[in-house]
Amino acid sequence: MTPSSDEHQSATKYRRARSALVVGGGVAGLVAARDLAIAGLRVTLVESRPQFGGAVGSHMVADLVLDSGAESFATRTDDVADLIKELGLTGRVCAPNQAGSWVYLADGARPGERSGVLGIPGDLDREGLRETLGKYGMWRAKLDLKRPARVGVKAKTVGELVRARMGAAVVEKLVAPFTLGVHSLHPDELDVDTVAPGLRKALQECGSLTAAAASLRQATPAGQNVASLSGGMNVLAEALVRDLTTRGVKLVTGYDVLALDRDPRRSGWMVVQRQPDTGDKTAIARGELLVMAADGSSAIRLLSGVDRDFAQLQPDPSPKVALATLVVDRPELDAAPRGTGVLVAPDAKDVRAKAMTHASAKWQWVRDALPAGRHVVRLSYGRGGEKDNQVSPELALTDEQLVTLAMRDASTLLGVRLRPQDLVDADVVRWEQALSRPSPGHRDRVVRLREDVAKLPAAVAVGAWLAGTGLAAVVKDTRREVAELLEREAASPATDDHP
Ligand SMILES: Cc1cc2nc3c(=O)[nH]c(=O)nc-3n(C[C@H](O)[C@H](O)[C@H](O)COP(=O)(O)OP(=O)(O)OC[C@H]3O[C@@H](n4cnc5c(N)ncnc54)[C@H](O)[C@@H]3O)c2cc1C
Repeated sequence: MTPSSDEHQSATKYRRARSALVVGGGVAGLVAARDLAIAGLRVTLVESRPQFGGAVGSHMVADLVLDSGAESFATRTDDVADLIKELGLTGRVCAPNQAGSWVYLADGARPGERSGVLGIPGDLDREGLRETLGKYGMWRAKLDLKRPARVGVKAKTVGELVRARMGAAVVEKLVAPFTLGVHSLHPDELDVDTVAPGLRKALQECGSLTAAAASLRQATPAGQNVASLSGGMNVLAEALVRDLTTRGVKLVTGYDVLALDRDPRRSGWMVVQRQPDTGDKTAIARGELLVMAADGSSAIRLLSGVDRDFAQLQPDPSPKVALATLVVDRPELDAAPRGTGVLVAPDAKDVRAKAMTHASAKWQWVRDALPAGRHVVRLSYGRGGEKDNQVSPELALTDEQLVTLAMRDASTLLGVRLRPQDLVDADVVRWEQALSRPSPGHRDRVVRLREDVAKLPAAVAVGAWLAGTGLAAVVKDTRREVAELLEREAASPATDDHP
């Protein structure tokens, strides 16, 4: 049926964007570009590095392709699993070894907390907890069960909330190792609602933080809260790039966007290059819609060039992280003496790493790719997010020095001495902008920034610095923001310069 002339006229009153520009090719930018292409737009994606993927990358160590950044995704929502399905990768989804991780305290290593969330115990009677917390720490933790639900409910940070309900020992011995390992930040620096959505509400409903942590834990499928892909999460980034290629997205790598501007030819956007001598601008890429998917500080710098008010919304600096990956020949590690890895408590002074993953114990695909007796361990450094906010001295070490330190730390954490002759290969990867810092007030700043971006014509900003660290948060938020942008555009009246 052909549209009546009325229907036709009404259709022509609305904007029909035909092109989009995406700046930043991490997972947020790749997912945004894909959804825009699926909606029928011509998309240009511009990335400053030589390859796409951002914090989801790969590196080669001892002839093995391993993840250089993210190595798993949270399964508390279906967002990543759905994307994986759309890309035809469901057959590669793999669960980690269920042995779980350990925690390294000032007095040695112990099995880690698995009954709750964020290291907050969901079962105060579990075996070994009294040894970890000590007699007083245990007594103090159990006060949580007696205190009224309102205690701590107004806390802004995770540290404040847990300290108010369960005491300092739970904060320092259980929660800090977890948050330093995952977010590179101490619990006192983390906004509760950003890193543990639903926890405050569950506390009110369940009456104690213990029961709240247990209820959030139970909400994750089959008791398992992360998964990965055989071959690593870098497979996801590669598959997204392949998918974008088949959809005809224009992919630009190695171009650091330094300036954005409104496009005078159409009511859209362009990446511009200024001539140093004349100041004249040349358009490098254009799009009617703009998705800003660069990291927080780059995004604010670029948006401030369009509207100076954005400069006030500069996010707190991202925690810096260095990862030392070691491949060692040490058959004693076949027994996985510390399960899938170890999180390190801040008061354990004889280890400088904040976390260690025993990758060949955690993921079967890594194990299968190695000869007998060979193992992969990955240690992460960077406690710049601790309360004193000092930059970690380990980050100033050269790669060689960091590998030497990592061999020593891994020996302590694994309880197996690694000798220099055991080292087959090693690599150090440094991440400067890839983690968000969800400090108190973060959510308010995100809301404000999004309101301000919504005032710009046809633009959204996405990425971990807004959605929160982690692929689950980034994928969900990006898809929602892009869908809303498309809806807004479809509902906005066409202007004269935009037929
Ligand atoms: C070491 C590490 C381990 C992690 N492990 C996990 C994990 O196991 N599970 C998990 O869920 N999450 C993990 N994360 C977090 C997760 O990887 C990130 O939250 C997510 O990948 C962020 O994606 P993004 O697209 O928002 O940002 P990014 O990946 O930072 O992408 C931003 C992109 O924008 C580009 N860019 C910046 N400025 C410009 C410019 N001016 N012009 C053009 N391009 C620009 C950058 O080069 C980059 O590629 C980890 C992060 C790190 C650093």
